[in-house]
Amino acid sequence: MIYFVNFYLGACLASFMAVIADRYPDQNFIWGRSYCFNCQHQLAWRDELPIFSFLLLKGRCRFCQQLIPKTLLIVEICGGLVLSHLNFFDISAWVEILFLTSLLLLSLMDIKQHYFDIIWLSPIVLTLIFRRISAPFFDWQDCLQLVPIVGAMVISILLGKFGQGDLLIYLAIALFYHPARANFSLLLGCLLCIIWAFWKKPKGELPFLPFITSGLVLALFFS
Ligand SMILES: [Zn+2]
Repeated sequence: MIYFVNFYLGACLASFMAVIADRYPDQNFIWGRSYCFNCQHQLAWRDELPIFSFLLLKGRCRFCQQLIPKTLLIVEICGGLVLSHLNFFDISAWVEILFLTSLLLLSLMDIKQHYFDIIWLSPIVLTLIFRRISAPFFDWQDCLQLVPIVGAMVISILLGKFGQGDLLIYLAIALFYHPARANFSLLLGCLLCIIWAFWKKPKGELPFLPFITSGLVLALFFS
């Protein structure tokens, strides 16, 4: 039961992050009401329940029967699965919940607009401060593991192949968890990115942040 409650609270948080990523910076993401993109009809609360509303409405708008994009449902389910291993009723888990939720938000922003506003890094900085106050810092041998990757990423940034945000998030994962976990997450993220590129054959630039975040989720799963 507690697993399901944590899963659904995670899905609610993921759903809210999708709303922020969708509305920022043009619309009010706190007080603005959701509406159907096709018929512009304002949605009632019963149409906005994460996962349930999509299933009850069979993936269509209640008013105009337009298909609702499945991406929101996927984000809600993935958010629920990722956060379900954390206990929302344990205050000490909230630092990691906020960290992972912020990564999800930045990934969604990266998908939507290929960048994120620096202001959205502030929750991550806060969680890093809390985390490092409560846990001992790594020794210098651990920190050395970061050097080759940071060097390669800086060169890639200078060559315009990589975004600065990707480097910042890689360092944030290293600081929050451990340099070894950041390297493992990056490796898994690169593999996922290669698989995606072969599968979808996308044209143009691929946002890399969602792949690092997915790599971290897999790394957490394997550990
Ligand atoms: Zn509609």
